[in-house]
Amino acid sequence: MSVLVFIDQADGHVKKTVFEALSYGAALAAKLGTTAEGLFLGKAAEELGALGKYGISKIHHVDNETLNHLDAQVFTAVIAQAVSSTNATVVVFSNNLNAKAIAPRLSARLKAGLIAGAVALPDTSSGFNVKKNVFSGKAFANVAVDTPVKIISLNPNSFQVTESGGTAEVVALNLDVPAPKVKVTSVNKVKGEIPLSEAELVISGGRGLKGPENWHLVEDLAKALGAATACSRAVADAHWRPHHEHVGQTGLAIAPNLYFAIGISGAIQHLAGVNRSKVIVVVNKDPEAPFFKAADYGIVGDAFEVMPKIIEAVKKIKG
Ligand SMILES: Cc1cc2nc3c(=O)[nH]c(=O)nc-3n(C[C@H](O)[C@H](O)[C@H](O)COP(=O)(O)OP(=O)(O)OC[C@H]3O[C@@H](n4cnc5c(N)ncnc54)[C@H](O)[C@@H]3O)c2cc1C
Repeated sequence: MSVLVFIDQADGHVKKTVFEALSYGAALAAKLGTTAEGLFLGKAAEELGALGKYGISKIHHVDNETLNHLDAQVFTAVIAQAVSSTNATVVVFSNNLNAKAIAPRLSARLKAGLIAGAVALPDTSSGFNVKKNVFSGKAFANVAVDTPVKIISLNPNSFQVTESGGTAEVVALNLDVPAPKVKVTSVNKVKGEIPLSEAELVISGGRGLKGPENWHLVEDLAKALGAATACSRAVADAHWRPHHEHVGQTGLAIAPNLYFAIGISGAIQHLAGVNRSKVIVVVNKDPEAPFFKAADYGIVGDAFEVMPKIIEAVKKIKG
């Protein structure tokens, strides 16, 4: 019996949300009186043992070229084998796009109960009950799971990252890696931009900015802070910004440390993609804008007057 945490990677680098999943896995293992271990698939571009500081004792590494890029079917097959060879009874993912592709497949394959969008450690006083987000973050549900293997996909920014351990032992795991049914023939990445899904700071603009010619107000602040840029769907639909920047129910769901929204009303469909952000700052000239209800800090004012002052102040602080 152990807790197995999936260590998600991009180009061999561990994604930051994994630190939270590892801390969660370690705390869960302590609660269950067992150990937490990690699982890394593909070539590693960094020293994996250092992840032990998040409280895991061992990392299983399946170093196979086929696993350098995500193929959900192949990853599912390999993780299922890892679960059985490590005797894991709980598998923890960070609830990102990769987990959304893998965890349901793994759940079906292992006949394991899946809690997607967990926001807290399970209550094990009577059974195994986990609190999770439902209705796009508008409500919580407590879900009881009684399958022998359980899968938890943890919503980012739900659990404190804690450094409680030392160095983890990294062990090679030899598993069958099936041939992918789909072959990636090329990848064209957007260059020079911070990927939105990974960004800790996000500056976002809405229709209140009136047109693409005013996007320097978003971009200048993003540049000064080292942030990614995002937008509302209305803006992407109007072709002011590319669709990969659109956040919300039908766009990307993000959970940065800072979400700074300029001229966005805060419609429920927009909030569904950003309400897991740690700190939300809203600039809107309408004091009744719904976004203010979700904001940690709000500025009621005209973005064209407020933003240049904020950008100037940030530039001054950043030197
Ligand atoms: C099924 C469905 C799915 C959807 N999915 C998404 C989604 O994923 N993401 C998403 O974003 N939307 C989504 N929408 C659309 C959503 O309902 C809103 O229409 C959209 O978010 C509005 O975008 P906005 O806030 O930029 O524009 P608006 O609603 O036009 O709001 C503009 C805001 O700017 C403020 N403003 C105006 N001028 C200024 C100024 N000078 N300074 C400061 N503030 C100013 C206004 O007060 C207003 O609050 C969806 C809708 C449906 C029906």
